[in-house]
Amino acid sequence: MSTLIVGGGAAGCMCAVLCAEGGEKTILLEKNGKTGKKIYITGKGRCNLTADYSPQEFLQSVVHGDKFLRTAIYSFTPEDTKRFFENSGLELVTERGNRVFPASGKSSDVIKTLNARLASAGVLVETDAEVVAVGKNDDCVFTVSLADGRTLYADNLVIATGGKSYPATGSTGDGYAFAESFGHSVVKPVPSLAALITVESVAELKGLSLKNVELSAYSASGKKIRSEFGEMLFTDKGVSGPVALTLSSWLNRESGATLSLDLKPALSEEKLEQRILRDFAERLNSDLKNVTRALLPERLNTYVLKRAGVAESKKANSVTKEERRRIVAAVKGLTFRCAGVAPFEEAVVTSGGVSLKELTPHCESRLVKNLYFIGEVIDADALTGGFNLQIAFSTAAVCAKSITSAAAK
Ligand SMILES: Cc1cc2nc3c(=O)[nH]c(=O)nc-3n(C[C@H](O)[C@H](O)[C@H](O)COP(=O)(O)OP(=O)(O)OC[C@H]3O[C@@H](n4cnc5c(N)ncnc54)[C@H](O)[C@@H]3O)c2cc1C
Repeated sequence: MSTLIVGGGAAGCMCAVLCAEGGEKTILLEKNGKTGKKIYITGKGRCNLTADYSPQEFLQSVVHGDKFLRTAIYSFTPEDTKRFFENSGLELVTERGNRVFPASGKSSDVIKTLNARLASAGVLVETDAEVVAVGKNDDCVFTVSLADGRTLYADNLVIATGGKSYPATGSTGDGYAFAESFGHSVVKPVPSLAALITVESVAELKGLSLKNVELSAYSASGKKIRSEFGEMLFTDKGVSGPVALTLSSWLNRESGATLSLDLKPALSEEKLEQRILRDFAERLNSDLKNVTRALLPERLNTYVLKRAGVAESKKANSVTKEERRRIVAAVKGLTFRCAGVAPFEEAVVTSGGVSLKELTPHCESRLVKNLYFIGEVIDADALTGGFNLQIAFSTAAVCAKSITSAAAK
């Protein structure tokens, strides 16, 4: 039996290795001049290749597709990913948050390891091979048309073309059209794990990073969607950093959402007001901004007082009770209207993709026999921390298992 895999990213490379090692004649087609272009930029160039959790814990960080992914994650666990790379000679380290990286700190070593396994398994890797159309002929053989005019044939076809995020890496969403050409439905792809854009300008805060803050998101009807505690960063157009990226996974299909930023989540409103009153009592004749500076970083201090509508040059002893309440409210709940999520060019993953309803737990099409979809092209995504690469590896592994065990029958 022969297998053609379209896309030489994390999912395609892993699937090709496991298919070939299982005895399949395997061809991997990659449109770039080399495989793993996206892997190279993962984890800020260090590649957080998995999240070292039990499958049960792992699935809690999956945003879409947790039920569907159960089989894949239990069959090829984060531990299996570690073993795969360590057995191939790549030393790994586990850091804070169970994030696993190559000990060298170089994502290029992950790519080198995958390439070495592709070669030793005997996979025929064709780079600069852009697939433009796929089909199945009357003899139930898949046909794959390349941009250079050639047509290739295979018994099994695996689509591992990724999503639409960071299109410069080659992930331009081609797999969605391939899926649709076979009659599959595609859940509208939207950017995820991306910065949030705010209607209110925060340009004056650009580059300011905050720790230990709580960012909450509310739907247009005022219902709380989710709160995240941790680190955040202001950009020229809105907010980024871990808490914003996580919230984007829930806001990328919302319109009219609002954000509320609690700058002092450890203090209740009452405690914060008492603290401000104490600071005021100690510095009655100081300008307001010099008193509240003890609470907030300088640029944020100015911004918060402006949003509270209290002049920063006002003397502390002339701040009214109502103005003090407005300052407390702004510190505990600085609100922003969310204008959306940053575009695919800046999104870590794509949410949406080939509908999971039409796939078996082994990622085989329920519509077309021997056709598979793996990795980010399917409607599954997770939070940051090594989860998305593990989804690519696990879906690749269950697909390879299905192909090689069918061939063995
Ligand atoms: C900046 C950034 C950092 C990230 N960091 C991490 C991290 O540290 N940990 C983590 O778990 N996840 C991370 N991710 C997410 C992770 O990289 C992806 O979820 C994962 O790489 C998806 O793998 P894939 O194989 O499904 O798709 P891709 O990696 O997108 O690979 C698809 C491949 O298919 C090829 N292709 C597409 N169309 C065609 C065609 N028509 N013909 C031939 N080839 C084609 C593409 O060129 C590409 O090489 C990061 C993503 C980004 C953008």
